[in-house]
Amino acid sequence: MARKKKVAPANQEAILECIQQKCPHCGQTMWSDYDNERRIRTLSGIVQLTLKVRRCANRGCERYHQVYRPEAEGKWALPKHEFGLDVIAYAGSLRYQEHRSVPQIHQILREKGVNICQRSVGHILDRYDELLSVSVTDKNRIEKLLGSQKQVILAIDGLQPQVGQEVLWVIRDCISESILLARSLLSSRGEDLSQMLAEVVAALPQSIVAVVSDAQPSIRNAVASALPNKPHQLCHYHYYKEAFKPITEADRHAKKELKKLVRGVRPIERSVSDQQEPIGEVVKGYCLAVRSALTDEGHPPLDPPGVKLRQRLTKIHSSLEGVKKRGNFPNH
Ligand SMILES: [Zn+2]
Repeated sequence: MARKKKVAPANQEAILECIQQKCPHCGQTMWSDYDNERRIRTLSGIVQLTLKVRRCANRGCERYHQVYRPEAEGKWALPKHEFGLDVIAYAGSLRYQEHRSVPQIHQILREKGVNICQRSVGHILDRYDELLSVSVTDKNRIEKLLGSQKQVILAIDGLQPQVGQEVLWVIRDCISESILLARSLLSSRGEDLSQMLAEVVAALPQSIVAVVSDAQPSIRNAVASALPNKPHQLCHYHYYKEAFKPITEADRHAKKELKKLVRGVRPIERSVSDQQEPIGEVVKGYCLAVRSALTDEGHPPLDPPGVKLRQRLTKIHSSLEGVKKRGNFPNH
C-alpha cells in the first residue's frame, strides 16, 4: 500500500469572506453556501484558508447557483496551485532580475522555509512565465475566459516579495476567477498601474461593476484615474492585516518576553518524574499546561499569540494561587 504523504501543519489561518455579497447579475443577495478549505505554502509559512463561498439563490437569474468565491483568494494563490503567488513572484524575480539558476532558487526558497523540491521550482517558474505572457487584447482568450458574462469585478493585487524587487501586478476578474493581465514592474507607481487598468478597460466588452483591492495608495490613485466613479471596495483581510502590523510586531515582542518567565519547565517535570504521590501528578499537569500554552500560536492577527499566551499563563497562575490559598499544595 502506498504510504500517505505527511501533510505539514499550517501555522497561519485566514478566513476569507466575499466582499461583494450581491449577485453581479441580478443584484440579489448571494447566500453563503459552503466553506472551501485550501492550504497554501507562502514565504511566511503554511496558511490554511477557509473560503466562504456564495451562490445566487434567484432561480430567475442567469447566474443562479453559480459559485462566487472570495475575491482575496486570487492574491494568495493561482487556482488549484499549492504555492502562494508571493513564492511565484519571488522565484520569478530571482530568476529574471538576479539571474539565479533553478538550483540556486531552490536553495534560497528552502532557506526561507518553503518546503519545495527542485522540480517544483521549475514548475513555478513556468507559471510565472505564463502569468506574464497573458494578453488582454487577445480577443479569443478573453472570450474563452469570460464567455457570455456581462459584468466583471476587477481585483488588483501588487506583490513585492522583497524591498527593491519588482512588483508583480495582477489584474483579475473575480466572477470568472481568471487573470486578465499581469506585469512585473520595477516601481509601484500609480501611473504604471493606471496604464495597465486602462488597457483592461479598453479591451473588455463587459461592464465593470466594482474594483476590489487592499487599497494601497498607489492602487487607490490608479483606480481613481482609470475608473472614476466605480465603487472601489477594500479586501478586508489584507486591509486589516496591514492595519494590524504594529500590533503584530508588539505582540511578537511580548511573547518573547513572556516565554522568558516560564523557562525551566523540563527540570521541574524531571524532578517529579519518579514521584508516585498525587502531588507529582499535579505538578506534571501544571507543567503540561505551561508547555501547551507555549505552543499555542493563536490565530493572528485577530487572536495574537502573545495575548493568547498571557491569557493562558494568567489562568495557570491564578489556579496555582487558588491551590496555595487552600493550603493543600506545599511550597517548593
Ligand atoms: Zn443572480
